[in-house]
Order: sequence, then C-alpha cells, then structure tokens
Amino acid sequence: MRKKFAIFGDPVEHSLSPLMHNSAFVEFGFDGVYFKEHLKDGSKLKDRFFELNLSGANITVPHKEAAFRAADILDDFAKRANAVNTLVNKDGVLYGYNTDAPGFLNAIKKFDNIKTILILGAGGTAQATSLFLKDAGYNVEILNRSKPRLEYFKEKGFKTYSFDEFKTRPYDLVVNMTSAGLKDENLPAPKEILEKLFLDAKGAVDIIYGKETPFLKLAKSFNLKTADGKDMLIEQGVLAFDYFTNHRFDLEEIRKIMQEALREY
Ligand code: NDP
Repeated sequence: MRKKFAIFGDPVEHSLSPLMHNSAFVEFGFDGVYFKEHLKDGSKLKDRFFELNLSGANITVPHKEAAFRAADILDDFAKRANAVNTLVNKDGVLYGYNTDAPGFLNAIKKFDNIKTILILGAGGTAQATSLFLKDAGYNVEILNRSKPRLEYFKEKGFKTYSFDEFKTRPYDLVVNMTSAGLKDENLPAPKEILEKLFLDAKGAVDIIYGKETPFLKLAKSFNLKTADGKDMLIEQGVLAFDYFTNHRFDLEEIRKIMQEALREY
C-alpha cells in the first residue's frame, strides 16, 4: 500500500521538502507520496498525523517543540535538543528524531580544518545545532542580538555574548543562524563586528536558502569560502528519508537525488 508522508508547518507553502522526497520515492521505485500540510495549532499535530494516516512527517517552524511533545519515543539527541523535525510511525507508536543538527554537521564537512565556530543567533535551530557540534568536538560560542535567549546556552556551558559585550577573536567558521536576511536585507550583527570576524575566518555559512543574504555577500567580499542553507536542507532531508524508509537505501544515492531535485533552487 502507498505510504503517505507530509511536512507540517505554518507557513508551509514554500517548502521544498515534497520535491526532495517525492523525487527520491520515484527514483528508488518506493511506493510513497509526500505533501504539505498547513497546521496552525501545534497541539493538533498528533491527531492530524493519524487522521491523515501518515507513515512519517517532517515538522518545520513553529512546531518543532510540539512535535517533540507529540513523540512517544525520542531518540537521545532529540530528547536533549527539545526539538523534533522528523516523526516516524511504527505500528502506531510515534518515534521522534532531530535531523537538523546532524544535517548541519554534514553540510559543513566541505570546510577543512574547522575547530572553532561562532554561531550568530540563539533560536531553536542554534540550540539544537550547538549541542550537536559540541558533542562532535567543535568549540562553539554564541553571539546574539539580545540577552534573554543566551541563558539556555550559558546553562549548557557555552561561552555567550550579546553585541555590546562581544570582543572579537578569531573563529574558523562564522554561521548565521538568525532569520536576519530571510525576508529583509539585514545583517545578523553590526557590520564592524562581521568585518573583523571575516578577516580571520576560514569560512562563512548561512542557513537561509533561496537567496544570497547580505551576510553571505559580505563574506564573499572577503574571499571566504561560503555555503548557504541549501546544503543543510538537503542533508536534513537525506537523514529524514533514511528514517522514513527504515535505512533501506544508500545515503549517498539519496543525497545525489535530492541535490538534483534542488539544482535550480
Ligand atoms: P528563531 O525564531 O527560533 O530564532 C531567531 C534568532 O534570530 C534569534 O536569535 C533572534 O535574536 C535572531 N534575529 C532575528 N532577527 C534578527 C536581526 N534582524 N538581527 C539579528 N538577529 C536577529 O529561528 P529558528 O532558529 O527557527 O530559525 C533561524 C533561521 O534558520 C531561519 O531563517 C530559518 O529559515 C533557518 N532554518 C534553515 C534550515 C535549513 O534547513 N536550511 C533549517 C532550520 C531553520 P533575538 O533573540 O535577539 O530575537
């Protein structure tokens, strides 16, 4: 029987996940279909999942915490990250995973000799990713516009700064994990700070995709190696697909299909 999958979000209409997953279903001859499901109220996520008779789902903004609560069984990392972006239905039991953070880690493998990472932003994605990067042995520090969201990171033992208390020092990789530049032309931090950081950095990554952000433009003007959010989008999708299909297919094959599906984006 055809297996059904969906992405839940609000908004969700711009999601590229259906294109990535449906392409992989077709290429592998897997009898599955993946669609968008606009969900306003996160507390309805579990009911809607079962009403739609889904085998699995991805969850995007703003429902990753709701998905964390909806899961019956959480994998170790999702439990620590407090956020789930992938749900899998195994005989009526919902398993929750976070593929954003390992996806980000895979996306930065193309940068050589990275040891220190400065993350700009302290939202949900930065929370999950910073923990995962720390576990993987990177030295991660956090710079955010305002102070309240930094508390979470302090508790977990990260060095944190708001703009007014930040004294620049060299970092190998500078990452924009804010939403600055997504729907506007803002930089995620004052230009003077970024310029000093870019003088020493080996690379810059923005997790926003579909446009060249002012952050990436500035990084390129310093001749830095850069990556945008498309790599992370693909990598989190590869890992989600691997869960959806119970580890049946080769990850490199899945990656190639998804890269091809998003070639024009
Ligand atoms: P949140 O809403 O949880 O956090 C937003 C963060 O951005 C906060 O730290 C906020 O700072 C900061 N911020 C917002 N506007 C500005 C600004 N103008 N200047 C400086 N800082 C700003 O967001 P998420 O963590 O959910 O997502 C962050 C970004 O990552 C989004 O753009 C999203 O699209 C992208 N994303 C991409 C993925 C991919 O696969 N490529 C996956 C997941 C997310 P403050 O605390 O001061 O408000």
